[in-house]
Amino acid sequence: MTLALHNTMSRTVEPFRPLVPGRVTFYACGPTVYNYAHIGNFRTFLFEDLLHRWLVASGLEVFYIMNLTDVDDKTIKGAGAAGTPLREHVTQFIDAFHADRRYLRIRDASVYPRATEFIQPMIALVASLIDKGVAYRSEDGSVYFAIGKFPAYGRLSRLDTRELLAGASERVSTDEYAKDDARDFVLWKAARPEDEAVGAAWDAPFGRGRPGWHLECSAMALALIGEKFGVDVLDIHAGGVDLIFPHHEDEIAQSCAHTGQGEFARFWLHGEFMTLGGTKMSKRYGNFLTARDLAENGMDPGAVRLLVYNTHYRQALDWSDEALGHARVGSRRLGEFRDRVRAAPKGAESGALIEAIEAFRRDFKLALDDDLNSPRALAALFGLAREANRALDAGDHVGDNLLSCISLAEDVLDVFPTGTARLTGQSTVDDELTEEAPADRESRSAWAVGWAGRRFQARLARDYAEADRIRAMLESAGFEVRDTRDGVEVVARRQDG
Ligand code: AMP
Ligand code: ZN
Repeated sequence: MTLALHNTMSRTVEPFRPLVPGRVTFYACGPTVYNYAHIGNFRTFLFEDLLHRWLVASGLEVFYIMNLTDVDDKTIKGAGAAGTPLREHVTQFIDAFHADRRYLRIRDASVYPRATEFIQPMIALVASLIDKGVAYRSEDGSVYFAIGKFPAYGRLSRLDTRELLAGASERVSTDEYAKDDARDFVLWKAARPEDEAVGAAWDAPFGRGRPGWHLECSAMALALIGEKFGVDVLDIHAGGVDLIFPHHEDEIAQSCAHTGQGEFARFWLHGEFMTLGGTKMSKRYGNFLTARDLAENGMDPGAVRLLVYNTHYRQALDWSDEALGHARVGSRRLGEFRDRVRAAPKGAESGALIEAIEAFRRDFKLALDDDLNSPRALAALFGLAREANRALDAGDHVGDNLLSCISLAEDVLDVFPTGTARLTGQSTVDDELTEEAPADRESRSAWAVGWAGRRFQARLARDYAEADRIRAMLESAGFEVRDTRDGVEVVARRQDG
C-alpha cells in the first residue's frame, strides 16, 4: 500500500501504515449539537468522508468513530433557554445533523457516540489523572489538568513554551474551543444551577459536575477502541485546523498521561477552513450557510461535493455562488457522461478507450494516495470523460472496464448529480448566457439549464426578485421550472414538437 498522509505532528506527508495491518481506527471530532451545522463544518466532515471512503476503497477495514458533543457550554445554554432537558433539547439537532449529512451523501461512521452516554469512562479518566498527580481539584470544585506536569505539552501545536507558561495565575474554565489560551484546562466542571436545571450534572468521587469538552473525546475514543480492539492508540485522529490547539493538544495530554503511551494517535489530520467573503465561516460572525439552505434551494449534493473536492483539504476554500455555479456545470457534465456510458451499446472496448481507462485508474489512485489530492483525482475523472466521450462519438462500445471506473468514482468522490440529467446536449457555462432564448432546440435546452443555475444562485442569495424574473423568462420561452431536492429542473413543454 502506498497511501501517504500529512501528519500534523511531523508537519510532513508520511507513508500511512496502520498499527495492525488491514485495520484502521479513525476518530473524527463531530458536531456540537446545539444548532444546525454550517457548510464550513460540513467541509471538514466531507474531507473526513473522503478519507473514510478512500481507506475502505483501498481494502482496509475501518472502525470510524464520530462523536456527538451533546454536553458543553453551548448545548447547556440552549437547553436552558428552551426550558427543556438537555438530552431532549439536542435530539432535534442530532436528527438534523444526520439528515444533512445524508443529503450530502456522507457515509455512516461505525459509531456516533454521544458524550452523555460515556459519563462513567469520563469520570474514570479524571480519577486516573488525579491519581497520577497530573490533575488537581481547585477551590471552585472543578478539576484541572496541570500542564506543567506534562512535559510533552505543546508538541502538536508547536507553541512557544514561554507562551504556554505565561500568566499561569488565571485558569481557563471555558470549553469554547476558539479560546486562545494555553494554561491549565478544565477536565471536570463543578455543577452550577444552570447545569442542574437541564440535567447536565453527574455525581463523581471528586465532586458533582460535568465533563469538559476536551475530556469527552479522549474518554470516548479510548473506551471504544479499548473495548473493541484492546488498544489505546488511534491510527488516525482528524478535525478542522481550529481544533489543533487547544482541543487536540489537550486530548493528547489527558490521554497520554493516562495510558502512558507516547502518542494518542499515530496520524493527526486537519482540514483547512471554508471561508465566506475571506473570513472563516462561523456562527459567531454570522457568515454562514447551512446544508438545509442548500437542500431547500434544490442544490444537488453532487455539485456541493464537487465544489468541496475541487480544493485540496489543506487549502482554504472560499465559498462563492460563482464556484457553486461552476461545480453545478461540472457535476452535470459528469452526469451526462455517466448516463451516456450506461446507455451506450455494450461490447469490447477499443484500444483508445482502454488507454484512457488505464490512465484514469492510475492517476486517480496516485492522486488520492498522495495525501488525498482530490483536485487531481477530479482532473483524472474529467480527463476520462473527455477521452471516453470522444471514443463513443467515434462509435466505440462500452465494456465492464469503463463501467467500473464510474463505479469507483461514485464510490469515492460521489460528485455525480442525483438521478438522470433531464436535458442533454451541451451544458452552457454561465457567462455565455444571453437574455434571449436561442432559436435552435439544442442550444435552447442548454440555455434553459444555464438559467436554472442562475435561478438557484439567486435564491441562494435570497434575491427572490431575480429568481422570479428568471422563472418568468424560462416560462415564456416554453420551459417549466421545478425546484426539487435533487436540483433545479427545467422541462421543455411539448409545444414545439
Ligand atoms: P463544532 O460543531 O463547532 O464542534 O465543529 C465541528 C467541526 O467543524 C470541527 O472539526 C471544526 O474544526 C470544523 N469547522 C468549524 N468551522 C469550520 C469552517 N469554517 N471550515 C471548516 N471546518 C470548520
Ligand atoms: Zn475532539
